[in-house]
Amino acid sequence: MIYLWIGVLLLLVAGILLLRGGRRQWQEAGLPVGEVVYSDTGQWEKQEQPLISRRYGLVGRPDYLVRVTENGQTVPIPVEVKSRRRPAQPYASHILQLATYCLLVEDVQKVRPPYGLLRYADATLRIPFSDELRGQVLETAQAIRAARGVPDVNRNHQDFPRCRTCGYRRACGPEALGA
Ligand code: SF4
Repeated sequence: MIYLWIGVLLLLVAGILLLRGGRRQWQEAGLPVGEVVYSDTGQWEKQEQPLISRRYGLVGRPDYLVRVTENGQTVPIPVEVKSRRRPAQPYASHILQLATYCLLVEDVQKVRPPYGLLRYADATLRIPFSDELRGQVLETAQAIRAARGVPDVNRNHQDFPRCRTCGYRRACGPEALGA
C-alpha cells in the first residue's frame, strides 16, 4: 500500500507538471535542470531496504546510495537509475522522485544530502536538493493526502505511451488511454 502511495504521488506530480507543459512553465516551477556529472557505478551501494519516514508519511527506495565526503562529512547521496536516454529536460516526476529520496535520507539517516543523482543511459545529472525542491516534495505529499478523500481522480493527460506502460493501468479502468 505504501508503495502505491509513492507511485500515486509521482504520477500526480508528473501529471500536474505535464499539464502545465513547456519549457517556460518548467522554469517557473523552479525545478532544476540538472548538471551532468561522472560517477563510478562500482562505488555505488545498492539500497536493499526501503527508507521509511513516519514523520513525513513517506516511503521509498532509491536504486543506490553513494557515500561522498562533503566538507569532512560523509553524506549518503541517493541515486535513481533510468534505463532511457537523458531527455532534453529531466521529467518532473523523476526529479520529485529523487527529491523524495533525499528527504527520506535526511529524515532516516539524519544527514541532508546536498543533491541527488539521476542516472540515465547516457548521462548522470546532479539535482540540487534545494529548500524549494524540498518544499515541493512536502507540498505534493500533502496534496496527495488531501486527494485521499476524493472518490475518483480523473486522468489529467493525453499521453498514450504513458498509459500503455503504466503499472497502475489495470486499476485505472476507463481512465486509462487505449483501454
Ligand atoms: S493508466 Fe494512464 S491515466 Fe491511469 S494512472 Fe496510469 S498513466 Fe494515469
